[in-house]
Amino acid sequence: MQKGEMYVGWSTKEDVRKRGGSGGLVTSMLAAALEKKLVDAVVVLKKINEFEAVPIITSDVNEVLNSAGSLHSVPSNFAKLIADRKLKVALPAKGCDARAIIEQGKRNAINLDNTFIVGLNCGGSMHPVVTREMLEVMYKIKPEDVHGEEIEKGKLIFETKDGKEHAITIDELEEKGYGRRESCRYCTIKVPNNSDIACGNWGVIGDLVGKATFVEINSEKGAKLLQNAVDAGYVQVQKPDEKGVAIRAKIKGVMEDLGKKWKGKIFVPIENGRLEYFRKELEHCIDCGACKTVCPTCSCGAVSKCTEYHLRGDAYKMSMYHLVRFTHLADACIGCGQCTDVCPVDIPLTRLYRMFANPIQEQLKYEPGMDMRKPPYFEVKLNE
Ligand SMILES: Cc1cc2nc3c(=O)[nH]c(=O)nc-3n(C[C@H](O)[C@H](O)[C@H](O)COP(=O)(O)OP(=O)(O)OC[C@H]3O[C@@H](n4cnc5c(N)ncnc54)[C@H](O)[C@@H]3O)c2cc1C
Ligand code: SF4
Ligand code: SF4
Ligand code: SF4
Repeated sequence: MQKGEMYVGWSTKEDVRKRGGSGGLVTSMLAAALEKKLVDAVVVLKKINEFEAVPIITSDVNEVLNSAGSLHSVPSNFAKLIADRKLKVALPAKGCDARAIIEQGKRNAINLDNTFIVGLNCGGSMHPVVTREMLEVMYKIKPEDVHGEEIEKGKLIFETKDGKEHAITIDELEEKGYGRRESCRYCTIKVPNNSDIACGNWGVIGDLVGKATFVEINSEKGAKLLQNAVDAGYVQVQKPDEKGVAIRAKIKGVMEDLGKKWKGKIFVPIENGRLEYFRKELEHCIDCGACKTVCPTCSCGAVSKCTEYHLRGDAYKMSMYHLVRFTHLADACIGCGQCTDVCPVDIPLTRLYRMFANPIQEQLKYEPGMDMRKPPYFEVKLNE
């Protein structure tokens, strides 16, 4: 196996294949890496219910096998979990997880040679609180009655414990303010080619729909991971159908174009009153620091430039903490949405950070987490 090859595959463990998002290949590949000592630990989500899960680092193969399945309402980011731990580790990664891991690698907090990034295609994730409200308002079902979920042909489908399916198109949900998080709508990393191996259901066709995973090998590490799983008897693969390869490429293109359209819709330039707009949006900030704690590309510790300005006992009209962070993240923000997700006073932080980052990253032709170039700000020489 080598970089550039594509396969369709599935777990040889029937229960994992059944529980898996699309065939359980990812789970089985992670478990095989652990069993054959390719890695010392694996990161997976430990499910609490349909809308809650906690990321865990484990060396227990059974715990890995139990994690099969996609949780669309758990918008976690794993990068900080493995930073500064010196682990030989494998982990599933949406595009934004992979980008953050690569950025932490550039900041020497993660050794990328020892990290196997198993990419998951990603059309988007949802905020768990918004999902619960959406279930009651749009689907007229109680969140506790939900048994499973899936996305098919542009519809978000929830299965309830009575075996019934409830489907609404994602377009309709998003028109009403539900569905994917705002940052996911304009995200254009739909197939994570920045990972070692990209896995998803796009391109799986015919009888294998729902029972197999489409994989694209992006690196030697990715080839090693998949070959190890096949050799260990955890995974079975076959060459993909040409029609499937073409369908996957087409969907990828459509989804990326949709992301670009959303970007144009959300980031309308403010002609006048830009400063006042930022001041107003940030005026309710309570300086809790949660947005810095979760930011997966920030590798400063508790003491850092921005936190020096954290307390509001000064005469500034706008938090200096945010002004420092806007500039520091201009070349590092990956638009993962974590800061907006945690803000207790609902400030649309990702949008504000992207308003600074978009023009800088576009002008520098630099997409953090998508290539291995050093962040441009690392190259800046300060004059005395
Ligand atoms: C939020 C989300 C959106 C997705 N959207 C698409 C899409 O639009 N098109 C497409 O082709 N594929 C998409 N996928 C990928 C797809 O759902 C399957 O994960 C993929 O096909 C691999 O299937 P599998 O059966 O091999 O994975 P499994 O064997 O089920 O393994 C899945 C692994 O992912 C982990 N995981 C589950 N939820 C999350 C999460 N929210 N964040 C990080 N890790 C998680 C689990 O812990 C497990 O380790 C998405 C996945 C997620 C999580
Ligand atoms: S930001 Fe992109 S990669 Fe991350 S969850 Fe949203 S759509 Fe997926
Ligand atoms: S500033 Fe917000 S959107 Fe940007 S990388 Fe940090 S947490 Fe993600
Ligand atoms: S999470 Fe919200 S309230 Fe807390 S520091 Fe960040 S912007 Fe302010």
